[in-house]
Parts: sequence; structure tokens; C-alpha cells
Amino acid sequence: MSATKILDGNKISEQIAVRLRRKVEEVSATVGRAPGLAVILLGENPASRSYVKRKTKVAGKCGFKTFDAFMPASCSAKELTKIIEDFNNNQEVDGILLQLPLPDHLESDSFLMQLLPSKDADGLHPQSQGKLIVGSPGFRPCTPLGVLTLIDFAFNSENLEEPPQKDLSGKRVVVIGRSRLVGKPLALMLLERNATVSVLHSRSPEPHLIAREADILVAAVGKEHLVNKDWIKPGAVVIDVGINRTTDGKLTGDVDFNGVKDLCSAITPVPGGVGPMTVISLMENTFKSFCITNEIS
Ligand code: NAD
Repeated sequence: MSATKILDGNKISEQIAVRLRRKVEEVSATVGRAPGLAVILLGENPASRSYVKRKTKVAGKCGFKTFDAFMPASCSAKELTKIIEDFNNNQEVDGILLQLPLPDHLESDSFLMQLLPSKDADGLHPQSQGKLIVGSPGFRPCTPLGVLTLIDFAFNSENLEEPPQKDLSGKRVVVIGRSRLVGKPLALMLLERNATVSVLHSRSPEPHLIAREADILVAAVGKEHLVNKDWIKPGAVVIDVGINRTTDGKLTGDVDFNGVKDLCSAITPVPGGVGPMTVISLMENTFKSFCITNEIS
């Protein structure tokens, strides 16, 4: 078998950022402003803080203007509603990111509902999710979008910088995990690409038997090295969404990377695989919103 392709999310997302910046520079002059991304963060959760920091940094690289509202965990429902309303009404804001999870006293669904659907760059508003189910255009959630781009790169035999969207007709794809954020929307997005999709979850008996039928296997569980070589069909493309912290403080995925790598045709590392692709997909959605608002085709 030929050498395993390592799908480098850092490199791919940087290339996308460069292209995005070029487009932003082209259109900002005509529109008279840059695309705007607003980020709302409540509390001190270190993981959330670090995600937000990364997203703001990448937004800057893409030439976006950023807006932020950082509030203590004690932020009231009324205060959060006012922040969302202000960003909804701000003509310079094209995308709004409400960083989850929210503190326990605030129920995320009711605040996601308050986002203007046309600024839902994270693709989590029920209207965006409804559009995904009915198959009409709209904002798709960022992590599944990043996964699809990585799949396009896995099948990019000509090493193009911007490979076309892969039609997955005839491909058997298995998604492990059925969350609202990743597994469920990803399964629907894979159907839009004509894949034959199975979804495994915590109640699936003997999941490895189904996983090893997959031409493309996506793990989105949150369990360190759940997926070992017994779960892999030789030649499969393996995308690892999971982020787990080992006892010695390092980040690792749901897939035993070293144990399965040689069996796969392509695989993502953790860190440096899906994570950066999630961030760049947020920028792509924000730019899409900017283009729709300003009637740029
Ligand atoms: P979640 O906890 O909401 O969902 C986990 C899913 O895994 C559930 O559907 C559950 O049924 C399933 N599951 C649990 N145990 C299982 C088992 N033994 N076998 C099969 N399925 C099992 O988590 P989530 O929000 O979907 O995130 C999943 C992982 O992906 C986490 O590690 C999270 O940190 C990571 N994540 C990464 C990114 C990124 O950008 N890289 C983005 C989102 C989530």
C-alpha cells in the first residue's frame, strides 16, 4: 500500500486563510468595510478562552474586523440578550459566535435562537439546522464543514491547493458520535454528498464491526484512543474529531494514531487536524454572510 497521507489541518487552513484574505482585500474596498466577526465569551473556562483567542487571531489573519464581548460567568440572561441584540443590530458584524458551553444558569438553545439567522456563522441556530434537514442553502456547522474539507483533501490525488468537493457516491462512511454539534449534522452533510452513511453511538453494540466496513471513518466521541486497528478497514480515510487530555496533560484524539496509521490511506493528527479546520470554517461562513449582505457573488 502507498504511504499514508497525513491530513495537516494547520497547513490546509493556512492556505485557505491566505485565499480568504485575498478575497477580503478585493471586495472590502468596494463595500467600504471588512467582514466583521463578533465573539461572545462568558466565564473563565480555559478551553473556551483558548478557542476564542485562536478564532480572533485567525479572523485577523483573514483581514476581518473583530468585536468581542467577554463577560464574567455571572452574566445574567438579560445582559446576554442585550449583547446579542447589539451585535444583531450592528451593521459591521456579519457573523456572531456564541462560545459554548454557557454557564450552567443559562440555557444555550434559548440564546442561540436569539442570534439573527443571517449572522449565524457557527451554523447552530435552529433555522440553519432546519435548512440542513430540508437540504436548502444555509450556514452549515463549522466542525462538520472542516471534516468535509479534509475528506476533499484525502482524495486530492493531484495535490491541488483547492480540491473540488468530492462526490461520495458509492463510499461507505461511518460517523461515530451523534451530537448536535458534530455527529448528527455531519451525517446529513455527508448525505448531501451522496455518501452511504451509518452513525454509531454509545448504545451501538459492537461498533467496531460496523466501523471496519467504512471507506471513511469519522470519530467524534471524546474517548481517548477508542478507535484501534480492529476498527479500521485497510485503506480507509480516518478523520479524528476527538480532543482528549492525557494524564500527562497532552492532547490526543479518539483514534490510536500510531496504532492505525499504517493501515489507512489518509488520517488526521490530533492536535493539528480537525481543530484548525473548524476555525477556518467559521471564517468562511462569516465571509459568506458578508457576501450575501453586500450582494457579492
Ligand atoms: P458529545 O459528548 O456531545 O457526543 C459524544 C458522542 O459520542 C455521543 O453521541 C455518544 O453517543 C457517542 N459515544 C460515547 N461513547 C461512545 C462509544 N463508546 N462508542 C460509540 N459512540 C460513543 O461530544 P461532541 O461535542 O460531539 O464532541 C466529540 C469530541 O469531539 C470531543 O472530544 C470534543 O472535544 C471534540 N470536538 C472537537 C472539535 C474540533 O474542532 N476539533 C469540535 C467539536 C468537538
